Amino acid sequence: MAEQSQILKRVGVIGGGQLAMMMADAAKSLGISIALQTPHNTDPAVTLAQQTVLAEIEDAQATAELGNYCDVITFENEFVDLESLFPLSQKGVCFRPGLEALSVLLDKYDQLCFVKNLGLPTPEFRALTKGEEDSVLPSIKKDWGFPIVLKTRRHGYDGQGTFICENEESLRWIWGKMGYPPLLVQEFVTFERELAVMAARSVTGEIVVYPAVETYQSDQVCHWVIAPALLTPSLTEQIQAIAYTLLEGLQTVGIFGIELFLTASGEIFLNEIAPRTHNSGHFTLDACQTSQFEQHLRAVSGLALSSPQMHCQGAVMVNLLGYELTQTQTNTLQTLYTQKQQQLTEIPNAFVHWYGKAESRPGRKLGHVTILLNTQSPEQRQSEAIAIARKVESIWYTDC
Ligand code: ADP
Repeated sequence: MAEQSQILKRVGVIGGGQLAMMMADAAKSLGISIALQTPHNTDPAVTLAQQTVLAEIEDAQATAELGNYCDVITFENEFVDLESLFPLSQKGVCFRPGLEALSVLLDKYDQLCFVKNLGLPTPEFRALTKGEEDSVLPSIKKDWGFPIVLKTRRHGYDGQGTFICENEESLRWIWGKMGYPPLLVQEFVTFERELAVMAARSVTGEIVVYPAVETYQSDQVCHWVIAPALLTPSLTEQIQAIAYTLLEGLQTVGIFGIELFLTASGEIFLNEIAPRTHNSGHFTLDACQTSQFEQHLRAVSGLALSSPQMHCQGAVMVNLLGYELTQTQTNTLQTLYTQKQQQLTEIPNAFVHWYGKAESRPGRKLGHVTILLNTQSPEQRQSEAIAIARKVESIWYTDC
């Protein structure tokens, strides 16, 4: 491992999915080489990496081997076994973001405690552990009322592990089905809109914040993102300030995805922080001067950060999710996917990104498309963005 002040040109990535793939693509123009740790050689990033250690994400011995091929190790997902990485860090393996920062972020309850201690607004939350329910549940019921939101403390993604419970019986039933893991319970926020913002911090402490975006979830999965979000200058400032406070509080290096709720009365609550590149930042690939993937690589390799500004008036990014089709229809599905990608490329100013995953599953993120918008008026652009997102979805999800 190299000295911390050097430019680190060999980057290891734990994970080999689409985020690692887009990072490996961005690495080329920076002259950075990528080594991966991922369990399947069919994973999207494998063909772009210079080296791959085929191993489970939590395999720390494999991470030690990965360390032999690179100067710094970063992450494309949160499924690591943090405890087993600390000894590697003590032996000089350089992780960015650092393991101390990850140790307050990977557990959703610890993360919200950290955020609250920084003075940032979060929905009300509590931890719930088996055996404590008869004392905790009555006070939650009294203080917040139902519905309440129940989340597994680790390993949740794309709404997996997040449940909205209408009453105590359903909460107890869902928790029981899960086998009573420790939980984060949260008051239900009646938000008007969901927002997100990407922000990066460099080795020297420089921070850049991307324009905040509006995200549209359905069944707790992100379907589309509009950039920039239509916000008052005061809300824009508040979001920037949240991002700065958070990254200064973390004192670590890399890019972070910050998810927010905006209520009808104009209050902002921080929902969640992802310590990595994020789906809400995919628009940056085609719409910004520096993509989130390049920015993250710049940060972790010790380069100066680069402009996060958009080079167009706006953009809409739509996720291309797997369809609900049976196994026997796989070939039909591939043909359909190819035809539909072609149709999407015909939309003016559209950029289709396909992740080349070996398998499709209903709801799995298979690709995304970003459409650049040049309408001056923010309100008009917003309606245009929504109309285009609907058009993309009608192309993508018909006949399935
Ligand atoms: P994940 O990490 O799996 O993406 P999130 O915590 O971001 O899970 O939750 C997924 C979605 O569930 C959010 O985008 C939001 O739509 C909804 N959600 C989460 N927490 C709350 C809450 N406290 N109140 C209302 N809706 C919520």
